[in-house]
Parts: sequence; C-alpha cells; structure tokens
Amino acid sequence: MKKGLVVVTGASSGFGLEIAKLFNQEGYPLLLIARRIEKLKALNLSNTLCIKADVQSYNEFQAAIKAGVNIYGPVDLLINNAGVMLLGNIENQDTSEWKTMLDTNVIGVLNGMKIVLEDMKQRKGGTIINISSIAGKKTFLNHAAYCATKYGVHALTETVREEVSAHNVRVSLIAPGAAETELLSHTTDQNIINGYNEWKATMGGVSLDPKHIASCALFIYQMPQESCIREIDITATKQNS
Ligand code: NDP
Repeated sequence: MKKGLVVVTGASSGFGLEIAKLFNQEGYPLLLIARRIEKLKALNLSNTLCIKADVQSYNEFQAAIKAGVNIYGPVDLLINNAGVMLLGNIENQDTSEWKTMLDTNVIGVLNGMKIVLEDMKQRKGGTIINISSIAGKKTFLNHAAYCATKYGVHALTETVREEVSAHNVRVSLIAPGAAETELLSHTTDQNIINGYNEWKATMGGVSLDPKHIASCALFIYQMPQESCIREIDITATKQNS
C-alpha cells in the first residue's frame, strides 16, 4: 500500500533530524520543514521534499504543506516538533524571548494543526504528534515562560484530540526529558546554561538520546489507526525530576 506523507517540523537538528532519518528508513515520503534549509538538504534523504519555512507564519507553513501535498498526496502524519527553549528568570529576562517561545512552541503547533485538520477529518484518518516536554507537566526553576508554552502544548493537544476523535483522527503527544540536542544553546544567560549542564551531569552524563524520541514517534504512528496513544513521557532513567 502507498505510504502517506509525513511532515516533520524542526527537522534540521535534534529530535526532528532523527525522526526524519528513521521515517525515511521506514520508507515514508517526507516533507521536512525548518528555517535552515541547507541543513535539511544536507540530510540528502530520498523521497523527501525540504522546504524553508518559519512555523510562526501560518502562510509560510501552509505553503510548505501545499507543496508537499502536490507531490506526495495528503498529509497522513504531522509531527509538530519545532521549538525553542530560552530559559530565564522572568524578572530579568528580555520580554522578546517570551514572545519567541510562545510564537514558536504554541502558535507554531496551532498553525500546523489548523492547516492539516480539515482534510484529515474529511478523509476520516490521519495523525498529529505534538512534541511537548516534561516541562509541560512539572515546573523547573528558570523555566517559567518555557513551561508556560509546554503546558500550553499539553492543553491544546488534549483539547483537539477530544474534538476530532470522532472523525478517526489521532492527536498524540510525546513529553521528553532532557536530551542531547541544540536546544539549550539558544538560551542567552550563561549562568543558567551552566546550571542546566550541572543538573544534566547528575544524570551520569547520559541524558536522553534523540533517536529514542524518533522511535516513540514511529511506535505511535504505526499502531493501527483505531488505537490512539495519547501521550508518551520519556526521560533518561537517571532523570529524577
Ligand atoms: P533543537 O534546537 O536541536 O531543534 C529545534 C528545531 O526546531 C530545529 O530544527 C529548528 O530549526 C526548529 N525551529 C525552531 N524555531 C523554528 C521556527 N520558527 N520555524 C521552523 N523551525 C523552527 O532542539 P530539540 O530537537 O531538542 O527540540 C525539538 C522539540 O523538542 C522542541 O519542541 C523542544 O521544546 C522539545 N524538547 C526538547 C528537549 C530537550 O532536552 N532537547 C526536552 C523536551 C522537549 P531551524 O533553526 O533550522 O529553523
């Protein structure tokens, strides 16, 4: 049977990159989205369209998905993975960092869902997997604005899951713990970066491998359409918070 189109946002590094590689190995046609198009192209994956788009922009995101659909047909899986983590104490954090996180982590996810949902409902099938975080379930110091975005992803995911379940559309969520990606590198406060790295060291220097997030996404997707895994929480075994 012909495999449906899989869309991965934030595929230029970290979780998204590993998700792209694994789904490519499994033979799915891919649409990869990120702003650093050269990183997407460098993956050099077969049966894959790479488009430069900012998920904050509904129009750019929609145009990217249209381009993918024109080549590979309807979106069967959307993985809303793109995100940013700008840790800070709100008393001294630049307010523009809150907006960047809200616009990427929350509006970007809402944009993706709105773009694909109507078609999925009409076709009575399809899956959306949103990447949230353990920081969407519990708080951490210096994570106020980031946690607000990830609690938001949990809330909007569960709300939409309830709304579309009768149409046989699945909405799932993965909540990872600390992992080895570029995510921390965008935080602008060096003291907070140092503290985060010290915390990660308490896990024995081994935090979560992004490949395991890709495996979770594949597991959720490859369950029969009538089974919806609502949420997977996954951390390094030694992460105790
Ligand atoms: P990375 O920084 O390695 O990857 C983030 C990806 O998001 C990049 O591909 C980046 O691409 C993309 N991205 C960021 N902003 C935008 C935007 N406006 N438009 C399009 N793409 C964008 O981090 P991770 O792989 O760790 O993060 C992936 C997701 O996992 C995020 O949602 C993050 O919050 C979540 N997460 C990460 C954890 C961790 O410890 N690493 C733990 C829990 C959750 P580009 O810059 O090229 O646009």
